[in-house]
Amino acid sequence: MVAARPDAWFPLRAGQRFADGVPLADIAARCGTPTFVYARAALLAAFEAYDRALGGHPHQVCYAVKANSNLAVLSVFASLGAGFDIVSGGELARVLAAGGEPGKVVFSGVGKTRAEIEQALEADIQCFNIESEAELTRIHEVAEAHGAAAPVSFRVNPDVDAQTHPYISTGLKENKFGVAHSDALALYRRAAELPYLEVVGIDCHIGSQLTDAAPLLEAADRVLALVNQLNREGIELEHIDLGGGVGIVYRDETPIDLDAYCGALTRKFAGRPEMLMLEPGRSLVGNAGVLLTRVEYLKPGEGKNFAVVDAAMNDLMRPALYEAWHGVEAVAPRAGEALDWDIVGPVCESGDFLARGRRLALAEGDLLAILSAGAYGMSMSSNYNSRPRACEVMVDADTVQVVRERETLAHLMAGERVWGG
Ligand SMILES: *Cc1c(COP(=O)(O)O)cnc(C)c1O
Repeated sequence: MVAARPDAWFPLRAGQRFADGVPLADIAARCGTPTFVYARAALLAAFEAYDRALGGHPHQVCYAVKANSNLAVLSVFASLGAGFDIVSGGELARVLAAGGEPGKVVFSGVGKTRAEIEQALEADIQCFNIESEAELTRIHEVAEAHGAAAPVSFRVNPDVDAQTHPYISTGLKENKFGVAHSDALALYRRAAELPYLEVVGIDCHIGSQLTDAAPLLEAADRVLALVNQLNREGIELEHIDLGGGVGIVYRDETPIDLDAYCGALTRKFAGRPEMLMLEPGRSLVGNAGVLLTRVEYLKPGEGKNFAVVDAAMNDLMRPALYEAWHGVEAVAPRAGEALDWDIVGPVCESGDFLARGRRLALAEGDLLAILSAGAYGMSMSSNYNSRPRACEVMVDADTVQVVRERETLAHLMAGERVWGG
């Protein structure tokens, strides 16, 4: 099982909240706030849960880098032999810098540039996940110029409803992702005939934060039916990649039972020659991280009480972007009157909130842990309002390592020039 509780790796002991074996207050004292804190053991446990659950069939777990692309996070997964799902040349550079094997990298995304395709061919990645006919043509051209066939798969859109937030649902006909199920056969035939393409796989990814395995299994059935059709035409594949999407517990969701889901997949794959691949992102890192922030001001009011903290939507965009719910816990819960607080940042946007209506006893200077911040937190952060990006820290038992320094004012202006300068 992926850790079910958002605070499983951030327990309260004797009135103090910890990250694994280290008091969060010590991390705030040493590194300041806002700071993302990741528990290395949580990453190991989450990856091993997938590896174990897929044990019944040859498999490869490709961590979806966009969920959290810090080099330390990538290096932990690389040390476990993970593959990586990337969506840009920048992510490829990160994977290589973290010691990931290029031969286990799959490249997804609807907008791969020529330069990115060249970079990936140069690195000798495992597979390009093609998302359109135009991309097929482009990859073939770049591969020809490069002088070697590009390994490819098609991202097929199985047209199943993932029943998740519309912004993170990707498997319906009207989404920009993938090629239509009905076009896939013709595209595979065409790819099989092109000299500088080598057809090696198929993939799909229907959405994110799914709490029901049924749509994932339905997508798997559709993809397998298509592979059987390809086989009948003499097109054999090395791998079948069923994407990511397994949700985590933010609040009170009943998560997908990973053993049951993966067990159902390996049963479907019984006797098949293809390797089974998955591309989990959120479920490997989401509950491995918290965002540590400090209360700057309390603004109790008539209609609402605001706690203004030093983290904001530029650090953790999910609440502003998807109205996402994150747990908020005091690092040292205090006695006293609890009120309902909106936890807001200093950014000049009404959408700049991290949480709303949370019953907490608070005082200025208190530390809060925003839970479930390991996925799509730092990787979606920005410098909006000219705010230097947060520090990132990894913890293992009682060892603490700063894995990304807090940005300075010099970082903020790097590469810029005044007019005429
Ligand atoms: C984002 C993404 C993933 C990871 O999704 P999660 O919901 O974080 O598991 C996997 N594959 C592709 C192609 C993606 O775009």
